[in-house]
Amino acid sequence: MKLHVQTLFVAIGLGIKRNWHIFLAIIAGIIFGNYIHEHIADIPKLGKVIQILNFIGGAFIRIIQMVVIPLVCSAVIVGISSIGDSKQIGKFGKRMIIYYGIITVVAVLIGCALVLIFQPGNGIQDYINQQAALEIQEQVSNVIEQQRGNIGNIFLNMIPKNPLESLSKGDMIPIIFFTLIFSIALSKLGEINRPIVSVFESVFAATMKITDWIMVFAAPGIFALTTVSVSSFGLSIFQKISVFLGIIVLGFMIQFFIVYPAVMKIFSKVPVSTFFAAIIEALLVAFGTASSSATLPLTIACCEKRGISHKVCSFVLPLGATLNMDGTALFQVVCVIFLTQAYGVNIELTQIILIMILVIISSSTCAGIPGAGLITIALVLNSLGLSQEQLIEGFAFLFAIDRVVDMLRTTVNVASDAVVTAIIADNENEIDYDLLLNTSEYKDII
Ligand code: ASP
Repeated sequence: MKLHVQTLFVAIGLGIKRNWHIFLAIIAGIIFGNYIHEHIADIPKLGKVIQILNFIGGAFIRIIQMVVIPLVCSAVIVGISSIGDSKQIGKFGKRMIIYYGIITVVAVLIGCALVLIFQPGNGIQDYINQQAALEIQEQVSNVIEQQRGNIGNIFLNMIPKNPLESLSKGDMIPIIFFTLIFSIALSKLGEINRPIVSVFESVFAATMKITDWIMVFAAPGIFALTTVSVSSFGLSIFQKISVFLGIIVLGFMIQFFIVYPAVMKIFSKVPVSTFFAAIIEALLVAFGTASSSATLPLTIACCEKRGISHKVCSFVLPLGATLNMDGTALFQVVCVIFLTQAYGVNIELTQIILIMILVIISSSTCAGIPGAGLITIALVLNSLGLSQEQLIEGFAFLFAIDRVVDMLRTTVNVASDAVVTAIIADNENEIDYDLLLNTSEYKDII
């Protein structure tokens, strides 16, 4: 009997398309993580299991992060120098800012409307108070202190004093800043840039090859990451703060199922459902890793192998994974207004507008790594009329529930990077529609 069951599983495993393994890994991770959450007190061995899974998940995410910096630098350098003509670079850049801008502003408006209509913060102060774990309060107050009055510094810190220092620290925004300027300079040099561009072409190809190898371990890696995340909060969290989470999830769904299709329809002729089928692996990995940067190699692979030109992908996607965070912006605006409701702070229209502007800035300065959107939210929280204790307590509460929403908002962030890339590629005649529409011929990416 046991053998039969095993054989059945193996048969099912081989029969389904490979990229579905990752979907099943997520579902299994959610179920197992919830089981661990509920039983860890009675079964101490589960603590060991979590340690092992933490190791597997940590190794998986670190090994993808390992390729991100060489990938981003080489992609931007090769992308910009292959565009060559500076007018065209400007055109791509302008389109990118407009589309990313539209999507982020719409996300913030949706989040703001939902939180003002449903008022999830009303009457929830005591609950926040109980949930704000004491042990993280000290850590939290440091973050709040560091972000205080920091808005000018945020822009200043985008410019690296020493690009090599930023590289060694993995600070993505200064790295991108330098790489952009360096690539534009290279593109102005004509033939003389050939040796260095060829080197970066090879670096790009090698990092994509490494990504292929890493993806062999995607299913166990994502299973481990999802299990560990879910085990820390358990599914019962959804009942306790259902209105708050429900609003965030509803906002993400509106963005995903209404805004992206509408923007794609208005600005391009890219078929919506086919395109989402083309990037499904990237979306699943985004959910599992909660990191747009770690997902970037896969987002590039999905878009390029399914018809979008290398020229557009290598320019638009790395910048999007670093700067375009509409899911994060939606989440941040809901959280900030939620806390003002919970603490009974009255905010007027002008403050709401200020919050929206700050959220747009803070989300786009947030790195594409797990939890980054929560750290930058401190910038906005500091601008509210909350007392120090309320700030710390509110922030600690958001900290405690962050991982759930992070997986979702990262999926939204990655989807919008890809959507904008597809629209720009369509506008510039840089999509091979034969390849994109021929879904039955798609090669496995994972
Ligand atoms: N984890 C998100 C991302 O990588 C950023 C965030 O924390 O909001 O896109």
